[in-house]
Amino acid sequence: MNDQNSNSLSASLTKEQKHAEEHQQDSSGELKRQSEERDLAIESEPSKHDGSLSLHDNAIQIKRPFQDACETFTSEEIEQHKHWMKHALTLADKAELIGEVPVGACVVLNGELIGEGYNTPITDNDPSAHAELRAVKAAASQVQNYRLVDATLYVTLEPCSMCAGMLVHARVKRVVFGAKDAKTGAAGSVMNLLQHSALNHQIEIVSGVLADECAHKLSDFFRKRRKEIKAAKKAKKLEENGESD
Ligand SMILES: [Zn+2]
Repeated sequence: MNDQNSNSLSASLTKEQKHAEEHQQDSSGELKRQSEERDLAIESEPSKHDGSLSLHDNAIQIKRPFQDACETFTSEEIEQHKHWMKHALTLADKAELIGEVPVGACVVLNGELIGEGYNTPITDNDPSAHAELRAVKAAASQVQNYRLVDATLYVTLEPCSMCAGMLVHARVKRVVFGAKDAKTGAAGSVMNLLQHSALNHQIEIVSGVLADECAHKLSDFFRKRRKEIKAAKKAKKLEENGESD
């Protein structure tokens, strides 16, 4: 490694350390709260009780890390969650328009939209181009910080393990999702990486916001796609039969 490279590496390390220090200062209260919650977890054996609670309003659930205290939302908070989920649904439509699985995501900080994205793995030949990843990248670029402390990510479908890992890295405060993903969901369905006790950051999970709308968007898409595949197969068969006659 030449001097120039080594200088730039040490400069970037210093920048990283600075960020880390700033984060510690910014969220010292948060870090303390987490360690308190961890202590609570030992006492309350969260493996037997994951702390998920049904709310009075509908099927919306909140799952705080290592906590099983009764939590409720105000109607204003529920409206906020619905508002941003509706926005995420419009982003899912954009994915569908280009033939991608309709999943949309947006990042909100202090009531303001700071990033948004939708699925583009096929279009971009990029297996990492999930809605959450694109939304968080846009948000981090917008606020010029690789940490999104205090931010909330809204996504129409439960995050996968890749996105959940990235959300922990980004130190996102809360994830709000619509439909559950029984096959790959990493926010409680298959595993819960967002609140894994071995990781150094746990994220509050709110599930079930506009769950039906989010689920229908996906099931309608897959139904349509199956129909198209079936029609294409039928057409091919007819064509082959025509040729053989
Ligand atoms: Zn993902």
